[in-house]
Amino acid sequence: MVETIAARAEDLRAQIRYHSHRYHVLDAPEISDADYDRLVRELQGIERDHPDLITADSPTQRVGAPVSELFAPVRHRQRMFSLDNVESIAELEAWEKRMARQLEEDGSGYVCELKIDGLAVSLTYESGVLTRGATRGDGVTGEDITANLRAIDAVPLRLLGDSPALMEVRGEVYMPIPAFEKLNERQAVDGGRLFTNPRNAAAGSVRQKDPAITASRSLSIWVYQLGLVEDGPSFGRHWETLEYLRDRGLRVNPASRAVADLESVERYVRGAQEGRHRHDYQTDGVVVKLDDLSSQRTLGFTAKAPRWAVAYKFPPEEQTTTLRGIEINIGRTGAATPFAVLEPVFVGGANVGMATLHNEDEIHRKDVRIGDTVIVRRAGDVIPEVVGPVPSLRTGDEQVWHMPSVCPFCGRPIVRPEDEKVARCTGGLECPSRLREWLAHFASRGGMDIEGLGYKTIDLLLGEKLISDPADIFFLESGDVLQFEGWGEVSVGNLLAAIDDARHRPLHRFLVALGIRHVGGTVARLLSREFGDIDRLLDAGEEELAAIDGIGPTIAASVRDWASNSENRRLIGRFREGGVQLADEQAGGGSAALEGLAVVITGTLSSLGRDEAKAAVEVRGGRVTSSVSRKTTVVVAGESPGSKLTKAEEMGVPVIDETKFIQLLEEGPAAVGLG
Ligand code: NAD
Repeated sequence: MVETIAARAEDLRAQIRYHSHRYHVLDAPEISDADYDRLVRELQGIERDHPDLITADSPTQRVGAPVSELFAPVRHRQRMFSLDNVESIAELEAWEKRMARQLEEDGSGYVCELKIDGLAVSLTYESGVLTRGATRGDGVTGEDITANLRAIDAVPLRLLGDSPALMEVRGEVYMPIPAFEKLNERQAVDGGRLFTNPRNAAAGSVRQKDPAITASRSLSIWVYQLGLVEDGPSFGRHWETLEYLRDRGLRVNPASRAVADLESVERYVRGAQEGRHRHDYQTDGVVVKLDDLSSQRTLGFTAKAPRWAVAYKFPPEEQTTTLRGIEINIGRTGAATPFAVLEPVFVGGANVGMATLHNEDEIHRKDVRIGDTVIVRRAGDVIPEVVGPVPSLRTGDEQVWHMPSVCPFCGRPIVRPEDEKVARCTGGLECPSRLREWLAHFASRGGMDIEGLGYKTIDLLLGEKLISDPADIFFLESGDVLQFEGWGEVSVGNLLAAIDDARHRPLHRFLVALGIRHVGGTVARLLSREFGDIDRLLDAGEEELAAIDGIGPTIAASVRDWASNSENRRLIGRFREGGVQLADEQAGGGSAALEGLAVVITGTLSSLGRDEAKAAVEVRGGRVTSSVSRKTTVVVAGESPGSKLTKAEEMGVPVIDETKFIQLLEEGPAAVGLG
């Protein structure tokens, strides 16, 4: 038994060594961090239960991996450490208890910092001047990357204020997410290597022979630790060192906090986890450090990590798994979108069996093949996606995928115009997939907003042949649905009430719901404002449409196309029969509703362009002027308003926001208190 355990430990060590080299030296990992951490944890468990099996060269006993030969080696004046990980509050509490056993006095509070997912570096400043920059390497010896770190704007070459004779600072070099996305786009165009994530890209960009490449990669840094100081101030708390570093002009993450106790740490961790996607850089946890430096000294280090700090790791958002197949989905416009069928994997807090692959070009750009081991990412509410393959794990049996020429749902051809990225099913609404997506779009928030009519209900209604187009929704009766499992008087009542509500949506919402190509929210508003009535709109000629400010020939042609289709005309007739209101009430929003009003617009409006907003006021008889005066009736303030807002406030001119402005357009001045 012990023999097999020893063999397992040896096997784990070999695997860990292999992956650590790929990750730290080659910047080309083959497995996800979560899988790697699992191997390490298993080995740690074995070594805890069988201390006699620990070997001096065990990866648990040291940091990182040996340095590559690309750069000159540098010995760190003070060792650079890794961090022990915890994954739960209970483990955090156990850590506190362990420390308490070794400390005479109770802890003195903690500092919580975001754990930045990048590359650890050490910066040496002599009399305030950057003289050396190094990677962590194996903690004792790192790689000399001074020239590359100098090329990063965020790394000060000279510190502010008084500086010690010598000062070592530790921090994390990272690549902001937008820079990472841009870099990969550029790499794809140039046929260069694609990076799997911002960490990987940062590591690859810092460890370049040519510093000019590093300079072009928009890297940045967060500094989090003061190392050796000679002839400089001394400190009692870690928090003071962070303030000191910030005052010297180094970038200390503003989310760092000094907190009193573990309860506050837990709150911080929860907040950091919830907010982890609000930053433009990736975080993979929270680093909790004991604030009191003399307690830190008492506790010291294990072979690998300080005893006075831990990394609370967030659940992983990337995992590797097998790509079993690639299938397509036909969207409401007929677009054929490929998606990955995966060996299910737990990632980002959920079991993921499918992930988006965007389009065929993207699949080929990433070179994803059926049978590949792929990296899957699920971050927050974002749809899971296949980041890319792990080519080094290929067996040779993987298959390159191509878009099928026939729709798997309706059997009609799938075609892709030469100049377009998107392939489309030609089956129209006879394609069941397209119909289903259209219905879902029709009922969605942006469309008719029918609460309770999601995919599940749509599938039931389609499956039972209760509906075969969106107009059928308005003919549903309670008896139709009541007979099905899971439906009772209350739920059916709610659904029918939601459908009834939808009968009275403004025309622009109905136009969006129809899903006419190129008619989104903005265009729909323009059209409904111009025509106010579906019949007038459908009878309008292409020229009349194209003459509207904000409507180009493509949109005009698309609307005309839709209107000239007899099936569509029939559908409109059935909506009418079903009681759907197909014209806007003119109550307050008639053509002269804003007669005599002088409107000034400042800032950006999210739902309307400046010209559209102007046209919308003028169509109703109002005037839009460029400066605020006593004659101004109202100022509309959008996002980032300019000095006009201040002027309006000074002059006491009423100010309204975008929502109120839309209400003004739709319901007239009285509705917003200007009557
Ligand atoms: P770690 O990343 O878990 O923690 C230590 C590191 O955290 C420090 O060295 C520092 O770089 C960083 N850090 C970020 N913010 C910090 C802050 N505010 N204060 C202090 N440190 C901060 O440990 P590690 O030893 O650097 O590497 C292990 C990581 O690398 C794990 O996530 C592991 O999964 C991954 N890894 C993956 C593979 C793979 O094949 N996928 C292989 C090896 C390692």
